[in-house]
Amino acid sequence: MSERKTLQHFIDGKPAEPDSGQYFASTNPANREVLYEAARGNAADVDAAVRSARRAFEDPRWRDLSQTKRGHLLRRLGDLVAENAEELARSESLDNGKLLREMRGQLTTLPEYYYYYAGLADKINGDTIPTSDRRVLNYTTREPLGVVGAITPWNSPLTLTTSKLAPALCAGNTVVIKPSEYTSATVLRLAELAIEAGFPPGAVNVVTGFGVEAGQPLVDHPALAKISFTGSTATGSRIASSAAGRFIGSTLELGGKSPNIVFDDADVANAATGVVAGIFAAAGQTCIAGSRVFAHRAVYDELLERVTERARSIRIGDPLDETTELGPLAFEDQRDKVASYVDLGRSEGARVLTGGQATDGGLGGYFYEPTVLVDVNNDMRVVREEIFGPVAAIMPFDTEDEVIRLANDTEYGLAAGVWTSNLARAHRVAGRLEAGTIWVNTYRAMSPMSPRQGFKSSGVGVEHGTETIREYTRLKSVWINTDEGPVPDPFVLRS
Ligand code: NAD
Repeated sequence: MSERKTLQHFIDGKPAEPDSGQYFASTNPANREVLYEAARGNAADVDAAVRSARRAFEDPRWRDLSQTKRGHLLRRLGDLVAENAEELARSESLDNGKLLREMRGQLTTLPEYYYYYAGLADKINGDTIPTSDRRVLNYTTREPLGVVGAITPWNSPLTLTTSKLAPALCAGNTVVIKPSEYTSATVLRLAELAIEAGFPPGAVNVVTGFGVEAGQPLVDHPALAKISFTGSTATGSRIASSAAGRFIGSTLELGGKSPNIVFDDADVANAATGVVAGIFAAAGQTCIAGSRVFAHRAVYDELLERVTERARSIRIGDPLDETTELGPLAFEDQRDKVASYVDLGRSEGARVLTGGQATDGGLGGYFYEPTVLVDVNNDMRVVREEIFGPVAAIMPFDTEDEVIRLANDTEYGLAAGVWTSNLARAHRVAGRLEAGTIWVNTYRAMSPMSPRQGFKSSGVGVEHGTETIREYTRLKSVWINTDEGPVPDPFVLRS
């Protein structure tokens, strides 16, 4: 993808200029260079995209396509993502500052999501339901909803878009995507690839732009049948209210403040690696960041030493460099937010064991040092609120009951890590933690096959696996009277 070009919306199978005639710049956070400018979407652009998606939904070329053939299109799209993986990974790394290695890893596994839903496309079916009258047949069908709106954040643009797009198309819907204003490029490229794969024009549309200007009109569009959102809890709450007011469904994948718990029977070296992976990978800009670390008092000092030592040795630099371990935060406000949280922590009484400084990484970018906070507790805002940066709060605990209480004492419930060699404890604690994903002796594992769901303020609805198909279909119950005789007493219900 060449840099510093002008990107248009993608509507009805082709690029579309913005109604306003306005564009906004997207910047490389590692060095502040402008990469490209993208169309600044508004309600008129959203309307054009939703109308196109609705036409495509009703077009026999899509509506009457067999489920197996829908699967073929998804498979072909997966192949095209694989063929373009390097270009896409590089483009995402430039846009959001995540390590090229990391984005390459994501793009290498991304085709699997399309292949998974390709295989599932012709396994979506209803049931035949028993009735009390054998002459009456009752069956259900699982139908697509119509036009699905997908609004996504900047931290893993294609992966998080795919978690919505692949199952939505698999179930026979059409889609309008509003990507983050910080990462428009690869989602637009994905829409082009969808056309190349054979999806009809209008099946996949992209309107770029800002949340209030382009995202909100999408949520509010009267022809939208469903909204699927990944982003912050504050925005998710607004979107859920708008969707509820119009009685359309919403799937929400929101923020987190996940606990990573190290018991005294754990392999502490492995646990320390898991803690580092949980909070410093991707510079902490993941919803599942293990930002609250609880270490049993017997291993607290050792864990702290290992994590701090590793944090100090993390190589900060250009995300495109294969040896870099920590890239920049995705944009200036994000870096400033992280810095102000660490300052807040200091004022709340936290001690900064390592890190605690913004840096330009020698490149003029928005970097922040890997940071370890101690002398912290669950009453502090740095422990309660999502920072979305490389900042770990590490706390000691004494008993299993105590750490479960502390871990669950949060508004969030996205994920949790448990480090232990005791099998019984692993299952016991996994059962009692209030989070949709639990990792034992690992962290950040994810697959298209495994459903995930945020508990509490971390979300509503399921993504991935077969379960998510329910989010993109509605159930119809059909009753057929096979008796051709006279219809009996109209005042008595029959079944
Ligand atoms: P954000 O909520 O600021 O923005 C997300 C998207 O919503 C963007 O496309 C934005 O333009 C749009 N938006 C903003 N205001 C809107 C409005 N009023 N109406 C409609 N759309 C609007 O989130 P972000 O800063 O881009 O992403 C970081 C957040 O995402 C973090 O909280 C993180 O935990 C969360 N996240 C969650 C998951 C998950 O699977 N649970 C995954 C990744 C990120």
